[in-house]
Amino acid sequence: MKHVTIVGGGPAGLMAAERLSGAGLRVTVHDRMPSLGRKLLMAGRGGLNLTHAEPWDRFQTRYGAAQPRLAPILAVFDREALQAWSAGLGQPTVTGPSDRIFPVAMKASPLLRAWLARLAAQGVTFRTRSTWTGWDGTGALTFASEDGAVSTERPDAVVIAGGGASWPRLGSDGSAAAILSDAGVGVQPFAAANVGVDVPWSAPFLARFAGAPLKGCAFTVGNQRVRGEAVITDSGLEGGAIYALGPALRSALARDGAARLWLDLRPDLKADALAAKILETPAHQSLSNRLRKAASLPPLTVPLLREHLPALPATPAALATALKGVSLAVTGLQPLTRAISSAGGVRWSDLDDDLMLTARPGVFCAGEMLDWEAPTGGYLLQATLATGAAAAQGVLRWLDRPDAPPDAA
Ligand SMILES: Cc1cc2nc3c(=O)[nH]c(=O)nc-3n(C[C@H](O)[C@H](O)[C@H](O)COP(=O)(O)OP(=O)(O)OC[C@H]3O[C@@H](n4cnc5c(N)ncnc54)[C@H](O)[C@@H]3O)c2cc1C
Repeated sequence: MKHVTIVGGGPAGLMAAERLSGAGLRVTVHDRMPSLGRKLLMAGRGGLNLTHAEPWDRFQTRYGAAQPRLAPILAVFDREALQAWSAGLGQPTVTGPSDRIFPVAMKASPLLRAWLARLAAQGVTFRTRSTWTGWDGTGALTFASEDGAVSTERPDAVVIAGGGASWPRLGSDGSAAAILSDAGVGVQPFAAANVGVDVPWSAPFLARFAGAPLKGCAFTVGNQRVRGEAVITDSGLEGGAIYALGPALRSALARDGAARLWLDLRPDLKADALAAKILETPAHQSLSNRLRKAASLPPLTVPLLREHLPALPATPAALATALKGVSLAVTGLQPLTRAISSAGGVRWSDLDDDLMLTARPGVFCAGEMLDWEAPTGGYLLQATLATGAAAAQGVLRWLDRPDAPPDAA
């Protein structure tokens, strides 16, 4: 029986394990942590957003520059396949607000439990606390256990699914990508994706508004505009709209050392309509009250303007313009350790269409350790699972090639 080793027991590695063991291969999954799927469990704390219900054409654009390579891979395990798979593990899905798709249970633990039971029933061997350290001089894979003992494996094929480098305490610390890089594989350095930004708030503003939401706003960086929400944090801003602007913010920060984030507090109203509404409110009332009555703007609005303007605008017209273009100075991104995901990873130019490393026949890569990124909304797990399934398909094709050595068992 052919043997496949999988490095990484996150969703990408486990999906590869499911497909390969289901095809009758002997599969061993190694993970450096004491248990599997720790980041998946963490994702479950937010309800486990598995995928997204938006039109598929639009869905695929979420992967930016990686879209041409990911599109055929997503077809291997698409949104419907993902939902059917989840239901098959006893976790039917539901489409929630803003078209995000979740398991009805809104958590990961029952899904992971059922998944690991299925894999065990299919004969998969799990080796936890087993860290992949590279290859020895004979080409065998080397693993270190916690007590320092070294073991080797010489499988017929390998799937490396070591994850990105965010939240390293959950397991994915970038070590697998670093090993590949040292072995000459092209790896784009990991960078924080889906992460908060640093905005220097004053102490009095933070004392009143840390944790306050900015709802129904539009956020713009350069020529990219995103409607959505953010939350004021001690260090700046967090939330879906900020995450979606991550690539634009990252490149502006890399280029200029700082970035300008424009906030439109009433994107559904043109400035003159907003000014007219402000004008209708009694002039003797406080500005906060007038803005609340005129445009349902929250109490933080005036303090927010004061944070970034030397003086409050004197006329309704100037005020409306200011409300539709609050200029925030972004001084940096929160670190990779606090990011939901990583940009960067194994370069597409070093992978064939089956996700096999062109310089290392028989070695496949999958999951977040590949060079793609996407906003939150279920796009991360959809691509992670799809690349796991595609790598497994690639392994099966590779083992079935005409010049493959015969099955030893
Ligand atoms: C707080 C948070 C919330 C999230 N919420 C969502 C969400 O709702 N929806 C969504 O789509 N995505 C979400 N994500 C992202 C999603 O969890 C990841 O994209 C996904 O887990 C990546 O899967 P992976 O298998 O590629 O890597 P991982 O899940 O990181 O798994 C990689 C595994 O490889 C192991 N490993 C690494 N190096 C080695 C080595 N050298 N030897 C042995 N083992 C190794 C690690 O221990 C780890 O178990 C969230 C992430 C975080 C941090």
